[in-house]
Amino acid sequence: MRIYADNAATTKMSRTAIDAMMHCMEEEFGNPSSLYSIGQQAKEVLEQAREDVAAVIHAEPREILFTSGGSEADNQAIRSAAEIGKKEGKRHIISTAFEHHAVLHTLKRLEAEGYEVTLLDVHEDGLVRVEEVEAAIREDTCLVTIMFANNEIGTIQPIREIGAVCRKHGVLFHTDAVQAMGHLPIDVKADNIDMLSASAHKFHGPKGVGFLYARKGIRLTNLIEGGAQEHGKRAGTENVAAIAGMAAALKEAAANMQENAAHMTAMRDRLIKGLQEIPHSALNGDARRRLPGNVNFCFEGIEGESLLLLLDDKGICASSGSACTSGSLDPSHVLLAIGRVHDVAHGSLRLSIGENVTEEEIDYLIANVKEVVQYLRGFSPVWRDLMSGKATFIL
Ligand SMILES: *Cc1c(COP(=O)(O)O)cnc(C)c1O
Repeated sequence: MRIYADNAATTKMSRTAIDAMMHCMEEEFGNPSSLYSIGQQAKEVLEQAREDVAAVIHAEPREILFTSGGSEADNQAIRSAAEIGKKEGKRHIISTAFEHHAVLHTLKRLEAEGYEVTLLDVHEDGLVRVEEVEAAIREDTCLVTIMFANNEIGTIQPIREIGAVCRKHGVLFHTDAVQAMGHLPIDVKADNIDMLSASAHKFHGPKGVGFLYARKGIRLTNLIEGGAQEHGKRAGTENVAAIAGMAAALKEAAANMQENAAHMTAMRDRLIKGLQEIPHSALNGDARRRLPGNVNFCFEGIEGESLLLLLDDKGICASSGSACTSGSLDPSHVLLAIGRVHDVAHGSLRLSIGENVTEEEIDYLIANVKEVVQYLRGFSPVWRDLMSGKATFIL
């Protein structure tokens, strides 16, 4: 069996999205800025995609700016709010310790430029508290940026309430909704969101394309200067095919959202229940307030990387929080943020299931994770110390 359980990293493109792109590449090859009909046809495709995307999140088409993905949208949203704040003498930004690096690294850069950043603690359940957001707001706060749902542990933040608090205090609110888009209902008006980032490849669209929603009246700062595309806010000839593919994928995801969520939630809970049978293990993040497709566990006494490699041998694609790819031995900043100690955080596993996952596949995942964890513990010195009482169990 081969199971792709890393949908939080990227998703397979849907047939609908591929077809929309193919059509575009074959038929709508014009430059949307050209005045002849072939160009104007491409322009129409572009504007239809803008309408479709806007409709899904209850925005207006002109509030949607197409970008190269979630990272660019995060960068532009935060930079824009920082520029707006600077003009009013406000240089304080509030965020959380478990944001995506596209947010955290942009904030680091702003700190070096003289901004002050407050990173709120995330509680053990993987949730931010609205009261703590409100308490952190100051006279000079220009932005609150908090993710809709976390990419590692899947926890869903109280976005509407956070947005309401920001409105009350006249502070801009941005949310990185990359993991939520296409999976959770989002209404930028009802949810009090001023700016929002999304990425197509997390909802079965193509890679390298995303969008930024910015409520009308918010003056965006360009990251890319040049032509007047995207209302002059993002220069460069539009990637029409990718944008059309994204819109098609999002429309499809929105149309099937309820049905997909119901199925995935049932599968997720079956997986969680199965993995909880492994001794000295723990689910990371709240069991209920989490994405329908996200399961994230810590297993004491083992290393996430070894777990991944052995699961790969069994045809299972999964992910671990530990950032061995970056060459550092630091465990996931997300798991540390929710209070997991280093040793425990190292033994983490994220399984992000897709819409079409079956019960048989879930059972295959459970059986194989159980087997591999037991196998690895068999020759883990850490596990031996735990079993002999030399070290004490945390989980
Ligand atoms: C994937 C992801 C991003 C980055 O999106 P890209 O389109 O890959 O740049 C940002 N934020 C979150 C929460 C993500 O999961």
